[in-house]
Formats: sequence, structure tokens, C-alpha cells
Amino acid sequence: MIDLSHYVITYPLSVDTLWKLKKLGMGMIGYCVNRNCDHFGEIDLDRLMEKLGPEFRFVGDKTIARSLKCPVCGHKGGDVKLRANTGPSK
Ligand SMILES: [Zn+2]
Repeated sequence: MIDLSHYVITYPLSVDTLWKLKKLGMGMIGYCVNRNCDHFGEIDLDRLMEKLGPEFRFVGDKTIARSLKCPVCGHKGGDVKLRANTGPSK
């Protein structure tokens, strides 16, 4: 687990890096693009940050989508969508 305690959200807010997603309680959903499968699931942000770094800018990025592999059908590559913070507010 990467320690994000020294990362601070500043305003105006632009959610463009992985650590901001994590801090804001948001997430990423990966969608399988195999139309016969349509599997989707939450992407592990901690694992992504370990691989790409917390400062990785996902805006306009295709690296994450390309590196997705569907755990159901094994299809490589997918779509990435952001998930809003749906958890209880602190
Ligand atoms: Zn699939």
C-alpha cells in the first residue's frame, strides 16, 4: 500500500491523477470490450499506483485500458470509466 498521507487535494479540483481518485474515494471500473462477455469490475487502484506511480495521469491515457485483461474471457484491452464516490461521506 502506498502512503498518500502527504498528498493534499487542492482546489479548483481537477481529478487527473491516480492518487486523487483514491483520496476522493473514487474508483475506476474496467469494462471488457468483448461483446459476448461484457464483464466489468473495479480496478485495484493500489496495484495501479504501485505499477504506474501515484502521480500517473490517467486523463487521455490509453495505457491502463490497453493493459486490462478480462478475468472471465481473457480478452486483452478494455474500456475504463471513472466511478464516483458512492461510499458514506466522512
Ligand atoms: Zn471478458
